[in-house]
Amino acid sequence: MSPFEDKVMSGMRPTGRLHIGHYYGTLVNWLEFQKHYDCFFSIVDWHALTTKYNESAQIKQNVFEVLLDWLSVGINPEQATVYLQSAIPEIAILHLLLSMITPQNWVEREPTLKDMIKMLAGDESEASSKATYGLIGYPVLMTADILIFKGNLIPVGKDQESHLEFARDIARRFNNLYKVNYFPEPKPKFTLTPLIKGIDGQKMGKSAENDIKIADTNELTKAKITKAITDRSRISLSDPGHTDLCEVPYPLYTIITDKAIQNQVKNECESALIGCLECKKQLANHINDFFGPIREKRAMLAKNPDEVFKILAYGNQQARKIAIQTLKEVEEIMGFSVLDQCELF
Ligand code: SF4
Repeated sequence: MSPFEDKVMSGMRPTGRLHIGHYYGTLVNWLEFQKHYDCFFSIVDWHALTTKYNESAQIKQNVFEVLLDWLSVGINPEQATVYLQSAIPEIAILHLLLSMITPQNWVEREPTLKDMIKMLAGDESEASSKATYGLIGYPVLMTADILIFKGNLIPVGKDQESHLEFARDIARRFNNLYKVNYFPEPKPKFTLTPLIKGIDGQKMGKSAENDIKIADTNELTKAKITKAITDRSRISLSDPGHTDLCEVPYPLYTIITDKAIQNQVKNECESALIGCLECKKQLANHINDFFGPIREKRAMLAKNPDEVFKILAYGNQQARKIAIQTLKEVEEIMGFSVLDQCELF
């Protein structure tokens, strides 16, 4: 029984090892939330199928990789419920029931869906053949993910509030249709999600191959950071640099290091006391120093997959108890008490 009233629900798709953008953009917030709220952190493997249905053979390994990343950074299964979406079949049933009350045009107007279809198809002419029924229905599945635990606080960045409107609308529609006050309307829990750039200056992303993984070795981190784009106007070592034009290393310094180090780098850069190569070498050292203990813990956990999956099984069990109860209540509200009658025989 959690001592906290507010329920935070959030998830990640298992598409491979996580990068430092996931750490600073999401996991740092989760580490705080687990101390103050009843948290449900889900590896949403059904969602991985919405766009990667032809790569399902990777899912098991990817679930393991994400779990290793979560546990090694400090997500604590004793503070938060850490579970696998597909281990909770009640979510799929709630998804089905909610889909029955969801107007078609609500799904079609969902802005994130349009972006996902565009991303998936690459070319508009291919959109209809590549977008599946499952993808179109993903906002309903996301709503079921939240409502099954009556999640009322959902972490989102300032620019992502619209993502939640759909879930709020469905919760309200359910309550209105069946004249109950059952589902809370999930509210945004605004988080600071700094834009973490990859080494090419674009947003850090797994598919862009511009990322630095939490699990990367020191050597690989150094090699990647060496390639990071700096101040393009700085030609030689004697030219003063401009931290405000520095595309990747300086922005990373502002996220990863403290003010004193940032000021020192700024001063040395702008007085041409340090070259970009040396500056990037030092940045790689800061990243490696910070992630060193996390990487060690990750390597230890990776040697014991059975133990790691046991942790997930425990979370699945806890999550499922709540999900079973919610689904039972939803079925009663919707008039499915006939199911209880059948169970008598
Ligand atoms: Fe960027 Fe460092 Fe080069 Fe300055 S010295 S431009 S901060 S990499």
